[in-house]
Amino acid sequence: MIDVDVLLVGAGFAGLRALYTMRSRGMRVTVLEASADLGGVWYHNGYPGARCDVESYDYSYRFSSELEQEWRWSERYAQQPEILSYIRHVAERFDLRKDIEFNTRMIGAHFDEDTSRWVVEGGDGRRWAARILMLCVGQLSTTKRPDIPGQNQFKGEIYHSGEWPLHEVSFAGKRVGIIGTGSSGMQMTPVIAPQCAHLSVFQRTPNYSIPAANAPVSEEEDRAVKANYRSRREQAANSPSGLGFIPNKKSALEVTPEEREQVYEAGWNRLGFGFALSYYDILLSKPANDTAVDFIRRKIGKLVADPTLRAKLLPADFPFGARRPSVDSGYFQTFNRSNVSLVDLRETPIEHFTERGIRTSAGEHALDMIIFATGFDAFTGSLLKPQITGRNGMTLKAKWENGPVTQYGVAVSGFPNMFIVVGPGSPSLLSNVMVSTEEQIDWLAALLDKMDKESLVEFEATEAGESAWTEEVQARAKETLYWTTPSFYNGAEIAGKPRVFMPYSGGVRGYRRLLQQCAAEGYSGFELRPASGRLARNTGIQTMTPPGQG
Ligand code: NAP
Repeated sequence: MIDVDVLLVGAGFAGLRALYTMRSRGMRVTVLEASADLGGVWYHNGYPGARCDVESYDYSYRFSSELEQEWRWSERYAQQPEILSYIRHVAERFDLRKDIEFNTRMIGAHFDEDTSRWVVEGGDGRRWAARILMLCVGQLSTTKRPDIPGQNQFKGEIYHSGEWPLHEVSFAGKRVGIIGTGSSGMQMTPVIAPQCAHLSVFQRTPNYSIPAANAPVSEEEDRAVKANYRSRREQAANSPSGLGFIPNKKSALEVTPEEREQVYEAGWNRLGFGFALSYYDILLSKPANDTAVDFIRRKIGKLVADPTLRAKLLPADFPFGARRPSVDSGYFQTFNRSNVSLVDLRETPIEHFTERGIRTSAGEHALDMIIFATGFDAFTGSLLKPQITGRNGMTLKAKWENGPVTQYGVAVSGFPNMFIVVGPGSPSLLSNVMVSTEEQIDWLAALLDKMDKESLVEFEATEAGESAWTEEVQARAKETLYWTTPSFYNGAEIAGKPRVFMPYSGGVRGYRRLLQQCAAEGYSGFELRPASGRLARNTGIQTMTPPGQG
């Protein structure tokens, strides 16, 4: 058994930041990473056109101003290879690789109540004992491959956007089919279309998208951001989404149609996701949302020449933003190409794969390559893959049978000293995850500082705390339009998954205040113990109950 202070799982953005921070506190840290190299989702999502839809300067670490100053982003929205280069640079610069065990999947972990340590099992049989278990496994890292019959029969190539191979994939002369029109499908469509003989896009639900207006970053822009990076970070941390956009304080319904048109027009080719904050109530009120939908449909409509195709591509059945919109670079225009066709799966559903392609109710589409851009088992998929067992033999899977229950998205009662970074119940995918990630890791570091100072051994969410928080997450979602639409925010992406709203929709700024208040109140909603639960009980040591908790 290898003894460490912190066992971290995942060497993506969150895992590397956690490694840096925990090691800086003098802790012995080991990171287990199932893949052969760094990057998490950015390692696996190397499909053509993959890029971040948060601006590069904001989708980067804030913990080191030297790093901020020395890294030069080339585009407003960085492509996947550039993001991977950044991650690798960070690892070299802070000498992080030496503590990472690659090709090592955590298959299980259990909390030993006698020693107050997590015993973690690697897929290769090695075991670690750790005081703290930190799960940095990502929210969109377990891919979803629909259960379409006949997949083994297909004789061509099959890929998934989230498990893209490391080798070069050639599209030249091939008939390619993409299933799925979320962000991944929308990003790859315009890039693959010019490279292949024919592209068929299999669409179930037309999706909203805002133009990325991507552009190279000029020297002048780079200097301007770097001269004011601290205030940019502050602004991001104090914005609802962590993107730095402050919502317009006006309602979309209180202005004249002319003023609204001007505001939408001004934001359309500039704001990306920020377009959703053109008015404060776009994500809160259906009539307000309808005004944005009307504008977006008109804009998209102008991009597609053929009226029948246009009608099929226009999103209609759900409010803008209620499912995650895309930020695209020429997606709709791609359908004007003569080598691109849309297969509307609502009219002609997929029946099965064949040797030669995909059969829908209208007939066979002959293909040489099929790409699943069908998304992920979001939020909980990767947390529930290993067998994680807390106190009294309770598994996380059993505990979350009816959906994830967490205190602030970071901790679970019954699982002492286990910390989830950007887990369900935190702003997570409703925010710039970089902001949420760094916020949570700094918060945990402060908690560990206090525990060390006061010789405390365990932290654990209370049942009362996590129930109240889980209710709060649902209550906040019900105030929004997110609630109205099946999506991966509420478990609808996987058949049989509990339909519970998972990210906290109260905003990054509000969430940060709650974390700060929790700490100021002596970590209300958590128990901090001077010994393990069992030891404390056996020896009569009083469990500490922080102020603010019954
Ligand atoms: P997604 O948004 O979940 O979209 C999956 C797509 O596959 C949807 O169009 C869905 O249709 C379709 N689909 C699923 N099952 C299907 C089936 N059985 N038959 C036909 N179609 C099916 O997945 P994604 O596009 O990979 O994006 C996931 C998330 O990853 C994004 O929302 C974003 O958070 C993240 N992402 C981020 C970036 C970035 O730039 N940062 C880039 C790519 C992805 P329905 O809508 O009908 O279910």
